[in-house]
Amino acid sequence: MSAKNKLKTGAQELGLDLSKEQLDILLEYMDILREWNQKINLTAIDDPEEIVVKHFLDSLSLLQTLDLSGEERVIDIGTGAGFPGLVLKIIYPNLRLTLLDSVKKKVNFLRQAAYQLDLDLDTIEFLHGRAEDLGRNRQHREQYDYAIARAVAYLNILSEYALPFVKEGGQFIAQKGENAKKEVVDSQVALEKLGGETINLAPVDLPYNDDDRYLIVIEKIMATTSQYPRRAGTPKKKPL
Ligand code: SAM
Repeated sequence: MSAKNKLKTGAQELGLDLSKEQLDILLEYMDILREWNQKINLTAIDDPEEIVVKHFLDSLSLLQTLDLSGEERVIDIGTGAGFPGLVLKIIYPNLRLTLLDSVKKKVNFLRQAAYQLDLDLDTIEFLHGRAEDLGRNRQHREQYDYAIARAVAYLNILSEYALPFVKEGGQFIAQKGENAKKEVVDSQVALEKLGGETINLAPVDLPYNDDDRYLIVIEKIMATTSQYPRRAGTPKKKPL
C-alpha cells in the first residue's frame, strides 16, 4: 500500500476523513522532513510508510480524546519535528498553536516547514527554550486550553513541564506507550503538587501498528503554585 493510501485509510480508522488538500499538505510535510533529516537529526524514522503510521497517524490519534472546536490555544511541549502539534494544525487551521523545543535547529526546521506548507504563520508561535523557563513567563503561564506532549519525559517530570502552561479547567494530554498505567500511578504526588488530576487513561488503537499506545488526560483542577516549575534541569534531576 502506498504511504498516501495508508494515511487516508488509517485516518479513516481514527474517524477522520482527510480532504485531498490535507493529504497533500501532510505528504509535502513528509518530503520536507525527509529532506532536512539528511542534514540534521530530526527523526530516526525515514521510511515513508513508517512516518505515516508512527508520526502522522499517531499524532492524529490524539484527537480521540482532544475535542477541538478549532480555535483553542494549544502548546506542544518538546515538539521535535512537529509531533503531534504541527499535524493537528494541518487538520485544524484555526488552532492557535505554540510549538516549543529546546533545540534551536528543530525550531528552525518547524518555522521553515510551516512556511513552505503555507500554514497561517499568524497563529503559530515557534518557541525555542526550556519548558521550565517558559512556564514562568507571564505570556505563557496558565494561558493554554491544552498542553500536549509525546516522547519527552516520564510523566511526573513532564507534568512539571506541562501543567504550568495550562489554564484552570484546561487539560494536559500525554501520549504514552506500554508503561502508561505505571507512569500514572508513579505521578500521583507530582500531579497533586502541580494542580492536576488524571481523568482518563485511554487506550489507542493505532492503525497498522500493534504497539500499546495510551492517551493520559490530566485536568488542571487548581492553579499551579509559584514554586513550579523549578529551575531548568531540576524537574529531571529531582522529579516530584
Ligand atoms: N514530540 C516529538 C515526537 O514525539 O516526535 C519529539 C520527541 S523527542 C524524543 C523529545 C524532544 O523534547 C526533543 O526535541 C527535545 O529537544 C525536547 N525537550 C526535552 N526536554 C525539553 C524541555 N525541558 N523543554 C523543551 N523541550 C524539551
